[in-house]
Amino acid sequence: MSEIKSIINRAKEAFDSGRTRPYEFRRKQLIQLRKMMEENGDKIAGALYDDFKKPKFESYVTEINLCIGEINGMLHNLKEWMAPESREKGLVTFFDKVQVRSDPLGVVLVIGAWNYPINLTLAPLVGVIAAGNCGVIKPSELSIKSATAMKELVEQYLDPECYPVIIGGVPETTEILSQKFDHIMFTGSTGVGKIVYQAGAKFLTPVTLELGGKSPVFIDDTVDMKLVAKRILWGKCVNAGQTCIAPDYVLCNKEVQRKLIEASKQVVEEWYGRNVLKSEDYPRIINNNHYKRVTNYLKDGRIAFGGETKEDERFIAPTILVDVKPDDSVMKDEIFGPVLPIVNVNSAKDAVDFINSRPKPLSLYVFTNNTQVQELILNNTSSGSAVVNDTLLQFAVESLPFGGVGDAGTGHYHGKYSFDNFSHKKAVLIKNYNPIGEAVASARYPPYTDKKMNF
Ligand code: NAD
Repeated sequence: MSEIKSIINRAKEAFDSGRTRPYEFRRKQLIQLRKMMEENGDKIAGALYDDFKKPKFESYVTEINLCIGEINGMLHNLKEWMAPESREKGLVTFFDKVQVRSDPLGVVLVIGAWNYPINLTLAPLVGVIAAGNCGVIKPSELSIKSATAMKELVEQYLDPECYPVIIGGVPETTEILSQKFDHIMFTGSTGVGKIVYQAGAKFLTPVTLELGGKSPVFIDDTVDMKLVAKRILWGKCVNAGQTCIAPDYVLCNKEVQRKLIEASKQVVEEWYGRNVLKSEDYPRIINNNHYKRVTNYLKDGRIAFGGETKEDERFIAPTILVDVKPDDSVMKDEIFGPVLPIVNVNSAKDAVDFINSRPKPLSLYVFTNNTQVQELILNNTSSGSAVVNDTLLQFAVESLPFGGVGDAGTGHYHGKYSFDNFSHKKAVLIKNYNPIGEAVASARYPPYTDKKMNF
């Protein structure tokens, strides 16, 4: 534990030395991080496969390439974003400089989740580096192979004093959180998010919380159901449903439900064959506890499709549940697995009421060709993000902020939002000694005559 304290202290000293501030340093670290991903893609993908049989294709698409894209965007814009921004002037400041400058915050703690262990830890780090900070990285201990690979590689490619990686579970994270940071970026569950928020509050440390929750899907009868089934099932089967923004449950009427189930059967067979267990393209659940948690949901409602499990492999097939009641446990907790319950509603308005009666979702998905229905749902609900006619892709749009609202989190990152999130926006006024300016501004000095009052 004393080693943890000295690692953090070394990062603080490194920040105080000022070496992370210059553009050239930031640029070099970002280029090194990209090189690390490019030269070690297969090693990283191998670690992810060992953790939960994540297919190599998914590792490249959802972890490695997304991080490289984030780095490229940051490198492209960094100089411009670092430059002082001029702001509108008034009469008194007409001859002066009025600016907003982006200052680094200091040492940022990044705590990652296990489900996208590379992306959810290193994509925030891109923003931490770009904004001129040091970063202490604490990956999840559940995806231990990925965490170990990340420690080895990050400390080899980046400045190890500025960007140390600490591996550990609850005791180590508790010890880390007892130290003062300048910002904490946490990705994980809502429950642990509350612990992290309280730890930050002790030091008045700003905290970004990227949490979970249930992300609903509404489908009406104006859509091509085969295409919709593909887009929803892709969101639910990538990473075996262990995705924070995975479509969690479906709201639709009985007829849409019948068509969705029919289409889903075809899609799953086209993708994974008749026996999903044998497919190399379908991951496993991360550990036994989560396997038990997700298989328990299969007791709720009725299995309309799927439902196969294999405990020794932590395998759960893509499954659709029907006749689910709103107070069943599958409708209370975030599912975080390949199980898709359907709750019947008769209209888009009923769907809005259902969604608004529950905690605000991290994401909301709407499948309809009717623009009035799209607008009705977008304008009358609150969620971290919302997508019409697809799932998950919002995460990959660099120009969009990524973050939650309400129980799903606070703060945003990705691209410029990351740079801003890990910067302090310092208001700067640089006055000069211009005599005309001084004549105007000197009205502030006593004596406060009536003439000045009437000015
Ligand atoms: P988790 O909250 O269990 O763990 C996250 C991190 O917190 C890990 O690094 C872990 O070591 C640490 N931790 C766990 N218990 C702790 C404690 N008592 N004190 C201090 N630290 C502790 O979350 P998880 O299981 O790794 O991830 C799954 C959850 O994360 C889901 O709810 C999912 O929706 C959410 N998530 C959110 C996003 C997002 O971007 N919003 C992304 C991925 C996952």
